[in-house]
Formats: sequence, structure tokens, C-alpha cells
Amino acid sequence: MKLLITGGAGFIGSNFVHYWTKKHPKDKVRVIDALTYAGNRKNLEPVKRKIEFVEADITDKGKVKEAMKGVDAVVHFAAETHVERSILDPAVFWKTNVLGTQMLLEEAKKAKVPRFHHVSTDEVYGELELDSDERFNEKTPYAPRPDNLYAISKAEADRVVREFAQGNKMHITISNCSNNFGPYEFPEKYIPILITNLIDGYKVPVHGDGLNVRDWIHTEDHAKAIDLILSKGKEGETYLIGSENDVPNKEIAERVVRLYGKDPTWVKYVPDRHSNDRRYAIDPTKIYTELGWKPTITKENFDEGLNETIDWYKKSEDWWRPLLKRKAPVTNGEKRAFAFITLDREVGKVKFEYKYADEDIDKKPVLGRKMMEDKVRTGLIKTKLKTRQWYKNTSKPYRDRLLALAKDPKTQGFVDDLAGRPDVIGSVKQLKLIRLAHAPQKYGIYGIAAWFQVETAEGEKKVEGYYSWAMGTKSGAKLLVLTRYKGRISHIALLKSEKFPIGARVYDLAGGFPNLDESVFELITRKLKDELGIEATNSTMRIGEIIGLGRVMPDAGMTNNHPYLYAVIVDVDEKIFPPLNEGENYETDKGLVLWPIEKLSELINKVDDAYFLSALARLKLGGLTNIKF
Ligand code: NAD
Repeated sequence: MKLLITGGAGFIGSNFVHYWTKKHPKDKVRVIDALTYAGNRKNLEPVKRKIEFVEADITDKGKVKEAMKGVDAVVHFAAETHVERSILDPAVFWKTNVLGTQMLLEEAKKAKVPRFHHVSTDEVYGELELDSDERFNEKTPYAPRPDNLYAISKAEADRVVREFAQGNKMHITISNCSNNFGPYEFPEKYIPILITNLIDGYKVPVHGDGLNVRDWIHTEDHAKAIDLILSKGKEGETYLIGSENDVPNKEIAERVVRLYGKDPTWVKYVPDRHSNDRRYAIDPTKIYTELGWKPTITKENFDEGLNETIDWYKKSEDWWRPLLKRKAPVTNGEKRAFAFITLDREVGKVKFEYKYADEDIDKKPVLGRKMMEDKVRTGLIKTKLKTRQWYKNTSKPYRDRLLALAKDPKTQGFVDDLAGRPDVIGSVKQLKLIRLAHAPQKYGIYGIAAWFQVETAEGEKKVEGYYSWAMGTKSGAKLLVLTRYKGRISHIALLKSEKFPIGARVYDLAGGFPNLDESVFELITRKLKDELGIEATNSTMRIGEIIGLGRVMPDAGMTNNHPYLYAVIVDVDEKIFPPLNEGENYETDKGLVLWPIEKLSELINKVDDAYFLSALARLKLGGLTNIKF
């Protein structure tokens, strides 16, 4: 058998390659991996002579076509999995996880590959209450958390796979698995942080109260489950994989510390991470009973699995040490930045440090690929629209208008959002779309208003309006800008401007809606320049850090506008803002206000902007920067 493994240089993918080459030595294995900053060629070092490695992106049609040749089965792991990355380049989650999956399926079909297995996650189900006994099973409805871009894109990828499986003859299966642990996991992930911190004499951090529960499975058990699904899984079926090993995070830390031979004082409680889901737990009955899978590491012998992992990290310092600080390309063509990923080992958090890098970037044009992506996305939106009864009831001129908007890359995001509108909301039936409006293109569309004819449970017909903003980062961003002088955060940069619509002079945060084809990084640099007059692109003033603070929901129900909050730390040279002395205010006639950190309490009494207050609270409570308030 010839197996094509996507994402085989990543954590789980590489463990699967190791497993397969050992268990099925006669099989041919081809790995396709783009070696993003989550991929690591060294993960495959021990098996490099046994496999064929293709360095390629799964959205690169030509390369995927080539890689499919002669293949009997595809096991698809490749994905953007590091949520932190969405701060800078959220589009890449959609591109790899959704469009990439679609591309693989289409090319597999053309190459007549008979078998396809899609690897997914239990994060598509959202989170469970801490004190419930509930577990996810194959019938649990998808409910990814709205602020978890990874989970949202994986849920969409699963939908794409299911839809494809229905319309095509290929034998397709899906598995949704819980948290994996084992060798080759990057040092910024939870269990590796614990172990590598102990190796280097740091205490082990536990976020928040440590009661958050994860269901841990060893990578080898995960690999065995996929092997079984490949040989015995039924066409079109989904299998949940979990080892019934749901354990609170604090207990993991305590166990690792004990197994390492240290006393409990080595566990240190640190502020929580933003959007740290409470509990995940899987009910694996289906894969147990239908396929006879049994994990070797469960709650009873979890220590064995942890001990083995501790030993692996102890003897693999050459592997993990260089990864503590690494460079991550965050460009997709013309964008001129890259990030250094570093780990704050005291608090167990990843830090992204952004740099401009004229000489370092990959300047390949992206136009061709972008056009392809837009086309695939249009197809997906159309398919989604067609599942809606309200769409079918809508008159042809409006249907055509929707389709035209879905074709245009500048507006397709809105239609995608509209297409997500179910036929029944609460007890109200959405009958049809009867009106559509948006501002003229020249003002930059950032929302589309739609009016639906609806029918209540009592049979009353009426019209309801719905405002659709572009989703995700396109919902806008608000920036808490902090200036750092000689390594110390000294001022908060605000805007003093007229507030729409009341006309009063108030303090405001920079930010707003991005252009539709703009990344967050570009939005941030543009807003700094246009609104605060900070050109953070040279050696005297530059963006030092961007910290994602999550989304806020300013109003409920009316719209789906959930802007992101970001703290942006700008390193400044004293010559730019002359009186940048400690404790001094600075105000320009263009409305820029630099407010000294020492006098923050005075500012809080003057500013009632909800974004500002939430951004400050999250920055402080999340322990996201060493700023002293
Ligand atoms: P990872 O981030 O360690 O590895 C992903 C790999 O995919 C990397 O080698 C990366 O280079 C590659 N990749 C990313 N984008 C690509 C692209 N466009 N083209 C080609 N290759 C690309 O992730 P992981 O933790 O090993 O997860 C692998 C799969 O398992 C994912 O699909 C994930 O959703 C799923 N999963 C992970 C867990 C977990 O606990 N880590 C749990 C359940 C499911």
C-alpha cells in the first residue's frame, strides 16, 4: 500500500509516520508538508530513509496533484493548529484547514485514490461544563467557541469532508480526537512546558485555577486508532477517539513534578490564558465496540505514558532546545514581517515578537493562488446557501445578487455569514430574503443589511432586519497602544477625537474595520499611522509586540460584530516624542495623547470607552505583559 500523509512533519503526523513505518514496513509512505513554523523536518530524521518527503503546501494544486500519483490512501493531518498565530494571519487558518482539505479531496478524486481519512479535533464540539458528566460523542452537535479560529476552521473542514463524501464514491472517514501527548511536541505546549521547565530548573506554571480538564491520549494510541479506522472503518463514518483519561490541568502538573522527583512547591499558579476552555471529554464507545480499539495508556497507567514522555524530552534536548526561540514566517507574499516565537517559561506563554524584514521575506506573488482560493470559497458558499430553504424561497433577482456578491472576493465574507443563517431561529421561521442593501463600494463595504420575511410560532408574518459584518478579524479591531522606551513601557497612546454621533471630545482607541483584503498586521500598522501618527516601520519607532486579547461582544443579538482587542507595544526612540520623560503627558494637535503609565488611575476616571477598559483588564488579569500598573 502507498500512503500519502499530509502534515507528517508536525507533532501528531510525525508520530504517525514513525508508527506506520514500524508497523507496516512494506508499505510506501509519502509525506507532504509545507514546513510552516509548526513543522519540523527533524521530526522525521530517524525514518528519513524509509519515506519520501515532499515539501509543499496542500493548497498548491500542481504539487498536490503530483503527490497523489499512485496513492492508495490519504491520511490528512496538515492544519494550522497554533491559535496564537491567528493574531497576525487569520486567513491562513481558513486557507489551510478548509481550502487545503477541499483541494486534497478534489485531487484525490481526480487521481482515483480510493481511501481518504480526515483527522480532526474534539474542539469542534466546544467546551463542557466543569461539573457535568457529559462527554462528546458522534451525535454531539458542533459548537466551536466563537473566539477559537482553529476550532471554527476545523469544523468547517469537517463539513466540507462530509459534503464531499456524500457526493462522491471515495471511501472517506473522519476522526475527532482529544488532546495528544508524546514525543516531538513543541516546547510551548502544555506537557512539554512542564517537563522542559523542570529540566532547566524553572517551576511549572498552571494557568488560572488549574481545574480545566483535558482528555489525554498518547500519540501512539491515536496512531493505532487511525490504523484501525483505515482498515475497518465504515465508509462515511465519524469516530471519536479518546482514552477516557480526562484530568484537570493542575493534576497533570502535580504528577509531572512528582514523577520528576520534585516536591509540590515546584507547581506555580499563574494568571489564566484568554479563552481557556473548561472541559473536554470524549465518549469512545463507538470505536471501542465497532472497531475493537483499546488505548494502552489510560487513567490507570497515565504515569507510565508521562514517564516515557519525560524520558524522551530528557534525552532529546538537541531537538527541543533550538525550538525555544524560533523564527516564524508570517508573510504570504508581499507582507513584510516575520515573527520570533519565544516562550515565557515563568508563565508558560508564547510570545510573538514581530519584526520587519525586507531582506528576509519570500516575495513570491500570490495572485494566482489567491484567485483559486476565492473561487473555491465561492463554491463552498454557494453549496451552503443551497442547503437553506429561505434561500430557495427567495426570488431569482435576489438569489442572483447574493451569488454575485459571493463571487466577489471583497464581499464574499458577508454572504458566507448570511449563508450561515439557519431556517429556524428560536421558534421563528426565516421564510425568504426580501431586501438587501449596502453602502456604495467606494466607501468600502464592511457590512450588508438584509431583510427577511419571517413567521413566528403563532403564525404571524413580519419583516426582520439583520446586519451582516464580515466575520472574524473583519469584524474590526481595537488597539491598546503602549509605548516602550528603553525596554520599559512608559505611556499609553490614545486618540482624542470627536465621538460619532454625539460630537463630544473623548479619548478613544485606535482601530476600526480592516480593508477586506488586509491582514491584521497591515491594519495595525495602517491605523497606527493614520490615527495616531505613529509610523512604526523604522528603526526609531517599530512594533515590538502584538498581544491578542480576544474578542469582545459589544452588543448582543443585533449583529455579529465581535471586534478583536490587541495590545500593541511600540518601541520608540526618545527623539520621536520629545518629552517622553517618566510621568509626563504629551498631546499633539492632531489628537495623539501619550499618557504616562504612572498616572493611569487618573486616566481611567476620564475614559469610559468599554474597549479601553476591557483591553486594560485583560492585559492585566491575563498577566500578558510585565507592565506595572
Ligand atoms: P502541528 O501544528 O504540530 O502540525 C501540523 C503540520 O501541518 C506541520 O508539520 C505543518 O508544517 C503542516 N502544515 C500546516 N499548514 C500546511 C499546509 N498549508 N500545507 C502543508 N502542510 C501544512 O499539528 P498537530 O498537533 O500535529 O495536529 C495534526 C492534526 O491533528 C491536525 O489536523 C489537528 O487538527 C489534529 N488534532 C490535533 C490534536 C492535538 O492534541 N494536537 C488533537 C486532535 C486533533
